[in-house]
Amino acid sequence: MRVFLASIPLEGRTVRVIGEGHFAEAKLRLFLTSPAKIVWHKTGDGPVAADIAARVTISDRPEPKKKALRETALLFVAGEPSERIKRLAKRYNVMLNVVDSPAQSSFQTPALIDRGGVVAAVATGGAAPLLARDLRSVVESALPNGIGLLADLAQDVRATVKSVLPKFDDRRHYWARALRGPARDRALAGDEAGARRALLSELNGPQEAPQGVVHLVGAGPGDPDLLTLKALRLLRDADVVVHDRLVPAAILDRVRRDARRIDVGKTKGSHPVPQDAIADILIDEAKAGNRVVRLKGGDPFVFGRGGEELERLQDAGIEAYVVPGVSAAMACAAAAGVPLTHRDHAQAASFVSAVVKTGGAQPDWAALATANHTVAVYMGVGAAASVREGLTAAGRDPATPVAVVENGSLPDERIVAGRLWDLDDLIAREGVSGPAIILIGEAAGRALARFNQEQGESARESVA
Ligand code: SAH
Repeated sequence: MRVFLASIPLEGRTVRVIGEGHFAEAKLRLFLTSPAKIVWHKTGDGPVAADIAARVTISDRPEPKKKALRETALLFVAGEPSERIKRLAKRYNVMLNVVDSPAQSSFQTPALIDRGGVVAAVATGGAAPLLARDLRSVVESALPNGIGLLADLAQDVRATVKSVLPKFDDRRHYWARALRGPARDRALAGDEAGARRALLSELNGPQEAPQGVVHLVGAGPGDPDLLTLKALRLLRDADVVVHDRLVPAAILDRVRRDARRIDVGKTKGSHPVPQDAIADILIDEAKAGNRVVRLKGGDPFVFGRGGEELERLQDAGIEAYVVPGVSAAMACAAAAGVPLTHRDHAQAASFVSAVVKTGGAQPDWAALATANHTVAVYMGVGAAASVREGLTAAGRDPATPVAVVENGSLPDERIVAGRLWDLDDLIAREGVSGPAIILIGEAAGRALARFNQEQGESARESVA
């Protein structure tokens, strides 16, 4: 360990920044959410950003007086410090950071992750600040936003806990239960009152068979980089992951190693695990006290039957949360460069399933046939002819551009394009067979032009 990361209490302390410009402002911003008094010895006459003006005292002196300097918790200098500052800082052991000059500094600023009550920091002792910043993003993704709230609440109840549980070991056991149990879930969900209640009720001793929790999590279209930070954190935290067929291995790799995985994957026509049985599994696992992630392709509430699962969980009195994911239509639109809405070409967008439950209502083709309207069809590969017929019979222009994106965001992603009158032939000709989104609308015009150009180029290449 070349450097030691200490934490300095900021309550009732003063932080000073001497200097001007971007670096001075960056240091000031570090402390905006802290309880410290922040004083800026502004050395130039540049403008003051609104967030800084609202929180920082701007001194009319270019440098603090001696007494003020001695009472300063941290002093930052953006630029070259004066001889006086150097001398006084040394004499009074002031914590001094000269931006970009480790030699003149008594401390360096680590890369910080600020979650209020929880602060994490990465330091390389000034050797490679960029490396520290990259690592910060890694830590950033693992530290949920609400974790600071949990720490703040723990601080609030600390005295109560001490008086109720005078023995150190009892307190240790209490914190181990309290900070990992329901209070954590509530805090991370932003429910302050619920988290506080959970912390306090844990004081009555271990709750009988603590109930688990189910998160219905959207895994996105397949590219692990399109997981949300929250999804990733929940995967790392889960005891049990119940997942669909569409969730690829690259995403399941992110699941905590010793978590149990239950594959309830469906294939069209054959339902290995019926929907009711899936809900039963979720309920049973949660009742057994597990942290359950129900991982679904795309977004749980877009043709994912997440709504039905949530209803069953709620009816069974299970604590359940929904974490949105990037839905296939969005990922495929992005891949094909088809804006779902566009000021000129698409004033509305609709997500439609081409497959409806037996006896269910057919899509309302008339409503979808209006011009300047992007229609994103899920599960449409096998039903492309009926999509074409439905839309054109209802009056949609048969020349409307279409783009079909197969395996969107995955390594074998493929984009083909054509016109509505040719949709089912296009799919058959190109042999589209994987999960695909059909994007229909004027906004697909550019994707069609690009596809035709590429086709032309490859035709010329094969001739040559
Ligand atoms: N809840 C999911 C949709 C599930 S329905 C979501 O929000 O994306 C399954 C259908 O989604 C597939 O038939 C296909 O139409 C579409 N789909 C899912 N993943 C896809 C992908 N990577 N590329 C293209 N389409 C996809």
